[in-house]
Amino acid sequence: MGDYQAPQDLLKDKIILVTGAGDGIGKTAAKTFAAHGATVILLGRTTPKLEMVYDEIEAAGGPQPAIFPMDLNTATIETFEHFAEAVDQEFGRLDGLLHNASLLGQRTPIANYHFGTWQQVMQVNVNAAFGLTKVLLPLLDKSEAGSIVFTGSGVGLKGRAYWGAYSVSKFATEGLMQVLADELDGVSNTRANSVNPGATRTNMRATAYPAEDPKSVVAAEEIMPTYLYLMGADSRGVSGRQFNAQKR
Ligand code: NDP
Repeated sequence: MGDYQAPQDLLKDKIILVTGAGDGIGKTAAKTFAAHGATVILLGRTTPKLEMVYDEIEAAGGPQPAIFPMDLNTATIETFEHFAEAVDQEFGRLDGLLHNASLLGQRTPIANYHFGTWQQVMQVNVNAAFGLTKVLLPLLDKSEAGSIVFTGSGVGLKGRAYWGAYSVSKFATEGLMQVLADELDGVSNTRANSVNPGATRTNMRATAYPAEDPKSVVAAEEIMPTYLYLMGADSRGVSGRQFNAQKR
């Protein structure tokens, strides 16, 4: 859906949570959702970055966002439950959930992979997405059509040497999305899909490919049509599918 053209009011009155909203693709997604009318909940681990996104959304005339600092690496189920209560109190429902935050971890052979780093990557990329999904499902079911979007990767569809826990976590993300979508099928108005952004100009990409000219990969703004499509009404009824954001 890389060529999807979203109406300007696509997300009017929607409440959408973006994890990892302080930087990279998450930051651009939060600003884009707000520009299309959504009230975004900005979740991330670095408060000044979230405040900057907040200010940019307000300056652009978007609906006032909400900020919720959280380190997904140390968050527990109690942290997630407290967060869900806060969202319930403030908004009473959730229309969209973009699981975007991720850690890259090490680029090294499995035999060398640091056990603690492996656990952190799985915690942030998989366990936190599971925990947040679990506690937020009742709020998504209060929406007339909730949308959960997981973030995958090319190395989560075909394993590649030296990508370690990141690759494995992205396979698990696809699995989580598929199991959930199957469970929701026919019993809930909430849908679940995954998006593979493809090579995108962010800090994570620069860390993974230090020799690459950043200008040779697309900016996050260019992959937003797929994100908008998945959050908006035009993808109603679409569930259990994996999307490549750079496919036209
Ligand atoms: P960035 O590293 O630029 O941004 C990741 C965001 O996640 C940051 O805002 C970061 O916070 C946040 N984050 C990381 N760890 C935690 C944590 N423990 N708790 C809360 N927030 C955290 O990555 P991208 O924007 O490139 O990636 C976004 C998504 O897209 C990821 O899921 C990634 O795997 C996926 N992806 C990206 C590709 C690319 O080419 N860029 C290609 C394929 C997939 P902070 O700013 O504080 O560090």
